[in-house]
Amino acid sequence: MRQWPKTRARFLRAKEVMPWGVTSNFRYWGDDQTIVVSRGEGPYIYDLDGNRYIDYRLGYGPVILGHGHPAVVERVSQAIRDGVIFAATTEWEIRAAERIIRMTGVDMVRFSNSGTEATMHALRIARAYTGREKVIKFEGQYHGHHDYLLFSTAMALRQPMGSRRHPIPVVASSGIPRVIADLIITLPFNDFEAVERTVKAKWGDIAAIIVEPMLGNSAAIMPHPEFLPFLRRLCDEYGIVLIFDEVKTGFRIARGGAQEFFGVRADLVTYAKAMGNGFPISAIGGKREIMMTIEPGAVAHAGTYNGNVVGTAAADATLEILETTDALERAAQAGERLMKGISEILTEAGIPHAVSGHPNMFSFLLNFEGTPRDHRDTMSSDIELYAEIGLACYERGVMFEVDPREPWFTSAAHTPEVVDETLNRFADAVRAVL
Ligand code: PLP
Repeated sequence: MRQWPKTRARFLRAKEVMPWGVTSNFRYWGDDQTIVVSRGEGPYIYDLDGNRYIDYRLGYGPVILGHGHPAVVERVSQAIRDGVIFAATTEWEIRAAERIIRMTGVDMVRFSNSGTEATMHALRIARAYTGREKVIKFEGQYHGHHDYLLFSTAMALRQPMGSRRHPIPVVASSGIPRVIADLIITLPFNDFEAVERTVKAKWGDIAAIIVEPMLGNSAAIMPHPEFLPFLRRLCDEYGIVLIFDEVKTGFRIARGGAQEFFGVRADLVTYAKAMGNGFPISAIGGKREIMMTIEPGAVAHAGTYNGNVVGTAAADATLEILETTDALERAAQAGERLMKGISEILTEAGIPHAVSGHPNMFSFLLNFEGTPRDHRDTMSSDIELYAEIGLACYERGVMFEVDPREPWFTSAAHTPEVVDETLNRFADAVRAVL
């Protein structure tokens, strides 16, 4: 079992200098469990005491090639010798934009540094383009920490969500002005009837439907095969901008992301995480006509650090590898082996379960039967048992989020040997918990 005196001591110091000892609330796992990391390498991270963990959080998704990938580090290191920020277009930006366009089929892109900035700007563009203000989002989906969409996320405060037929937007943080709730309509994912009824009644006010094409923040639940085509048709019919938030799925579930994987094209798409293998970079891509709504002096898209050399050189290197090698296929092989192995272990232990998602980002619900379709199903599963198993794995050097809402992420560095070691430890953890 893990011993971590240095890690504990430094975490207690971190708590003195940063609220809860972390710089994102999601990273706080409790005073006795929150990790302080010294380094990462391939599929592993290490704490300050040298304990090694097989990492399936991968920074919440970005690290698609493995930690510290040499080719990405090398390209960034070379590039930044000539300076990192110029308030001007650079060759790195143009190259990264060309790669995104080639891989995803969007017409144009604009860069920023986080998924939050990308979805915030995408909403503004959609509002400016349509002249409408409301937006539909789906329960359990997370689009970043700006005020406009922080409602009915997986982590929303524990207030009633209303019935499936009459859902209520549940604010996920104090400090968000009440008026913003009037701009948002939250609906259950995969609910054709609710979406159609809402759009038919309110289309004149609705600028956008923003959707994570699979529920990347609630157990990686997949769309019904007809759901995304249905959203596409409705948006076309009623002049609504369809935004795919591909911050998690982009360059992870296929080279062209969810648009390619599900065969449906959005009007605007947001990318971040996997496009830079962990370096901070994000982008909005989309149809030329809608992207050209951005106009100096009229429709704002800005950011001092947008397109900086660190992020764009990282994207250039990462996307080149994703485009030209079998990295995604290797990540998928690891995921397939894990999904199958985990399911077998749970069956043997007599725990009813549903494994959901794509091999490169998947989850499973415990004491759950059938196929999950929305966030309400996730919440009805045995989240406590999942956390117990997760913490027992953590003790045994396998780290995934101890909450089924956040998927397991795989990388090209997760070899079959790493997966087999994971499954052995997972089986041991399940035995220990039951
Ligand atoms: N959109 C989705 C689907 C996400 O999963 C996230 C973060 O997890 C975001 C947006 C926000 O991205 P960031 O944390 O880079 O601001």
